[in-house]
Amino acid sequence: MGTRHPEQVRHAPAIRTCVGCGARVVKSDLLRLVAAGNEIVPDAPARRPGRGAYLHPSQGCFEKAQRRRAFARALRLPGPFGTGAVVEYLGQARPVLPGDLRTDGNGGEREQGEQGG
Ligand SMILES: [Zn+2]
Repeated sequence: MGTRHPEQVRHAPAIRTCVGCGARVVKSDLLRLVAAGNEIVPDAPARRPGRGAYLHPSQGCFEKAQRRRAFARALRLPGPFGTGAVVEYLGQARPVLPGDLRTDGNGGEREQGEQGG
């Protein structure tokens, strides 16, 4: 890291690093986590101010991040943190299977049945 882009690039999606697996992906694919006191809480709407850690919303990445103490590093806090809220969040979130993704991207609906006389 080091190169900073000027704020010209508005169309480029924001890239963040998953603190679990280290993959660099579009920010919207990651769950934002913030520290609330001594607890890490999911910040799905990404509205809370302050420093956030980004994580794939998956148990695997969450466990990796915990082992590496990546939260403390990313949030610049000593920890340890309570993670009950995150565990609960991940428990509710269903894993998305590859075959489950359907692209119904019609780039704009056509008007149909418009027959003028
Ligand atoms: Zn990950």
